[in-house]
Amino acid sequence: MTCEDSIQETIELAEHIDRQWDVYFGRYLEKPISPGRRSFYCESKLRHITHGDIEHIAPNSKVPTKAYAWENLTLACDVCNENKGDHFSTDPEKSHDNLIDPYADEPADRFLFLREAIAARPDSFRAKATDAVIKLSRIDLLERRRERMAFIDGLVSAYCQAPAQFKELLWDDLVSNHLTSANEYAATSQAYVRFLNDRGVIDRQLGAGSEK
Ligand SMILES: [Zn+2]
Repeated sequence: MTCEDSIQETIELAEHIDRQWDVYFGRYLEKPISPGRRSFYCESKLRHITHGDIEHIAPNSKVPTKAYAWENLTLACDVCNENKGDHFSTDPEKSHDNLIDPYADEPADRFLFLREAIAARPDSFRAKATDAVIKLSRIDLLERRRERMAFIDGLVSAYCQAPAQFKELLWDDLVSNHLTSANEYAATSQAYVRFLNDRGVIDRQLGAGSEK
C-alpha cells in the first residue's frame, strides 16, 4: 500500500468509523497494549461512556505531518479527548510534560493502583502530567472502576471458597476472560489481583504475560 493509499484509507475509515470498527482496530492488534474498543487513556469501553473520537497522540495543530500516521492514531472517549486537547510539546526539554503512551509505557510502571483509585507515581513526571491533564480520577471513572472491581471481587470470592478441584478452572477463567488487555480497566484489575495476592487473599500469582 502506498502512502497515498494509506492516507485515503484513513480518511475513509474516519468518515465511516461506526461501521468500520473492526477494520480500523485490526491495525492495532499487534500493539503491546491493544486498546480494543477502549479509550486509549482511561480504559473505558467506548460504548459505556461515549461514541469515541479518533485521537491524535501528537495533535494535528503541533505535528501536522503525523495527521494520518497510523502509529499516531488511536481512540479516546470524548472526555479524554477534550481534556487532552492539544497538550503536546515537540521541545525535547519539555518532553517530561508529555503524556504517557499506553502503546509503549507499562501502566504499572507509571501509576499506583489501589482498587479503583489511581495515582501517578511520584517519580514519573509524565504520569503526573497525564493524571493532571486527562483527570484519571474523575467521578464517572471512579464509579465505573469501582463497579468493575466489585465484579472482580465476586470472581475472587468464588475462587477462594471453591473446593480444591475447581480452583484451577476458576483461576483460568479469571485470568483468561477478565484480566486480559482486552478487558475494561485491565491495568486496574490486574493491579488489584496482585494486591490481593500480596495480602494473602489469593494464593496464586498473576504472571507477567497476563498484561500483554
Ligand atoms: Zn477516556
